[in-house]
Amino acid sequence: MPELAEPAVAAEQFDCPTCSVPAGSTCRTRGGKVAPMYHTPRFMLVPQLRAELEVRTPADRGPGRTWEMGPAIDAAAPEAAAKPTRVLPTHVGMVPSPRRRPVQGCSAPRAGRIG
Ligand SMILES: [Zn+2]
Repeated sequence: MPELAEPAVAAEQFDCPTCSVPAGSTCRTRGGKVAPMYHTPRFMLVPQLRAELEVRTPADRGPGRTWEMGPAIDAAAPEAAAKPTRVLPTHVGMVPSPRRRPVQGCSAPRAGRIG
């Protein structure tokens, strides 16, 4: 996997799905300040950053200061499979048991038992 020179630059290739800032700008807080970190859904769009827990806004971008739109750049298109794939454990109860076959000649429902 190639090393990213600057994770913040990579995250800013995309518009932010959370705070709706355009590509080229830092993330924004609800109070209109530069967010200290990029929103997770935004940096998850960068395959090399998916393992990160956070991507901090560089100090020279002014985290905590009043947010201003950065230079406009063309937003990169997220990959089709942008969401990480999770493998869920299989549940034993989901596989039909071969031992539970219907009993031959017993078609009338029995009271008190389900299944
Ligand atoms: Zn954001």
